[in-house]
Amino acid sequence: MAASKSLLDSLKKPEPTNFRMTDFRRELHLRHKREEHAKKEKLRALQESKYVSRYAITIDTSRARSNCDVLRMSIKELGFKEYPFGRKDNCCDVHWHACHFEENPEVFGGKVNKFPGMSEICSKMTLFRCLDIMRDLFPTDYDFYPRTWYLPAQFHEFSCEIRKMHERRVKPKPTFIIKPDTGAQGDGIYLLREPNEYSSLSGKCHVAQEYMSNVYLIDKFKFDFRIYVLLKSLEPLEFYICQEGLARFSTLPYENPTNKNIHESFMHLTNYSLNKRSSTFNRSDRDDEGSKRTLTSVLRRIAMNGHDSNKVWKSIERIVCKTIVAIVPEMKVEYQAAIPPGKTGPSCFQVLGFDILLLQNLKPILLEINASPSLSLDSEQEVSPGVFEYVLSPKDEEVKYPLIRDTLLHVVPIDKLKYFRKKKKQRLLKKLKASTSQKSKRPDPPVKQRTSIVIIKADESDEEKREVNVTQQMSEMHMDVDSHGDSTARDVNSDDERESNIKSDTELDEEVDNYFETKLRESCLKQLYPAIYDEECERYRILERVAGLFIFFLGIRGSLRIGPTGFRTFARKCRLNRKGMTNASVDIMYIDLQRRWDHMNPERTSGSGIKSIGKKGNGLCYQGFLDACIEIARRKFYAPTKIEMLENLVDHCELNLNLRDNDLANNLPRLHFRRLGLQYRQGSMYAMPRRVIDQMTEETTIEDLLKAHEKKLRQPSREDIEAFLRKSRRMIYQPSSGSRVISVTKSPDSE
Ligand code: ADP
Repeated sequence: MAASKSLLDSLKKPEPTNFRMTDFRRELHLRHKREEHAKKEKLRALQESKYVSRYAITIDTSRARSNCDVLRMSIKELGFKEYPFGRKDNCCDVHWHACHFEENPEVFGGKVNKFPGMSEICSKMTLFRCLDIMRDLFPTDYDFYPRTWYLPAQFHEFSCEIRKMHERRVKPKPTFIIKPDTGAQGDGIYLLREPNEYSSLSGKCHVAQEYMSNVYLIDKFKFDFRIYVLLKSLEPLEFYICQEGLARFSTLPYENPTNKNIHESFMHLTNYSLNKRSSTFNRSDRDDEGSKRTLTSVLRRIAMNGHDSNKVWKSIERIVCKTIVAIVPEMKVEYQAAIPPGKTGPSCFQVLGFDILLLQNLKPILLEINASPSLSLDSEQEVSPGVFEYVLSPKDEEVKYPLIRDTLLHVVPIDKLKYFRKKKKQRLLKKLKASTSQKSKRPDPPVKQRTSIVIIKADESDEEKREVNVTQQMSEMHMDVDSHGDSTARDVNSDDERESNIKSDTELDEEVDNYFETKLRESCLKQLYPAIYDEECERYRILERVAGLFIFFLGIRGSLRIGPTGFRTFARKCRLNRKGMTNASVDIMYIDLQRRWDHMNPERTSGSGIKSIGKKGNGLCYQGFLDACIEIARRKFYAPTKIEMLENLVDHCELNLNLRDNDLANNLPRLHFRRLGLQYRQGSMYAMPRRVIDQMTEETTIEDLLKAHEKKLRQPSREDIEAFLRKSRRMIYQPSSGSRVISVTKSPDSE
């Protein structure tokens, strides 16, 4: 016992000068130092970067506008610190923007609640184009949105289709819905049946969609779901679905479209912003009544009607996954333009709103994605004719408050959160201990009630005042700890019990970990990817590899368009000429696609996303590049299906570029060749895709060779290595650490 005590003492007060080298205490001292160092390192890691506050979780709400109410409630509940006017140094853990990533260009750290270019990606044209490409590659899987035409560019195809339908006498007579590309809240939407009813006078771009007339009705009204999705990170891809949402109802009983009712927007459109102006808008506070209801209440109703609501929910989850996977390549292109590699920038997350319509057969149909879904908690109420008042909407609160609270919990630096919670608890417990020991020293402590309100009389003695302060402090401590859902100090009655509550470091760590684990488990957000749909979505992620190639050849950092030289370099470095692509055909393809894409999307100057000045310029946007890849794949990598052709092309390119598994680490081979004293030969011995590597059986590494030579106490000569390489036929570069990153493999020829 005494020995262990002295051991502990030596840990606490090390006296390095008295130690002899062989003294066992030296070992303890070193261990102690190591632990201290590890703690400091942990703290430094928590601070993440110099841009992040080091005192608490801080949220900048200066640009949150209508999101402020719900955000403030969540911040208060979680015990974070709000900066309503922002911070001078822009060093907050989370910066909440109401609309765009670019709202505060001075943010260089922490997290921003918007991805760059997301509002453009979620515009109707870009979104449905992304989905169209996926439908082209996976026709049976991407059948969850209406057929779409892009006007005015595809007006001819659109009118031809209507004419054909008329000729076939399709019943009921087809109706189409026209929506402005960047419109919202039902603005500028109308239904038509003849192509000449389309007016292009505004000069704006529109999408025309097949109008889904056979919709599922509840109480004779048409409705759609607003599903909330948290896109937590792009690399690695991670997203969550909120298990509660809203259902917005139209305010006129639904009828199939006819020439007579085609202009009734309160019948055909379900937007809340539009229907709230209707005299028949029902503001019932009950979950399952009114023109705005909760998602779960509608799903319950569907189940009560004898349908499988779980199946409906699963289909909605799948739609969310497929849609996000479809837009991720565009997002990556936009992200690298806003925050090029090497530049410091914040990381991003985003809450998206998916609008989903239910058909009569309960098939969900995606209508659009909202990049900035409304998060306001109040709704307009007409108190007297023509006089409106804003009142708190309980349904909005029920859905949006847990959504934002759990979103914050998911995105703030969790280690920092844990660290501060632990520190706070330690402080509280210490105070508790100190105050109780003070009390126990006094012979006859006065009986004080643990109340939070204590009236101090003017003639109180110092001793009494101190006592009052201690009691107050105690009660505050109880309140504080309790308010965070912790029961550590709640039932402490006797001094002994209090002593036992002073917990060890590991116990506290465990407790804090458990606390957050439970919080995250109980969250309304359910992880879809990678937890559930990882394997199912794997094959849809081919386009991310195409986006990787595009980014690789962009040339200029921060650009969104590939120039003619970049495109030529792509063809050359990927050795497309070996497949019969001549330089002339590459150039012709580039000019052709660039023109076509400029024509397809005249409003979007960058051709792929951001509309801002400065991004304008000549070049081929990502979607144009993708088109080029599909065309090359069709011509030169023929296979039974489109997806196989594209996969073959991408495999070929990656093989020639050593991109696969190396995360664009194109500098690595050069570096290691130099280290080995070899001449770097471009493109001669590049890596193979992981698939090919996995198939190989016999593998000898340069490491073995080096070891063999080390034994002889000399470095291998250049001739040795060259001879060795000549014998083997392939080289694989592994981007791991150290100089021994090259393995040489005797392998079959993969070309
Ligand atoms: P906005 O962004 O302006 O809200 P939406 O695409 O969400 O535009 O469309 C508004 C409303 O129009 C939807 O809530 C839905 O009720 C209706 N709607 C949109 N597209 C279709 C469609 N293809 N078929 C049937 N109804 C549609």
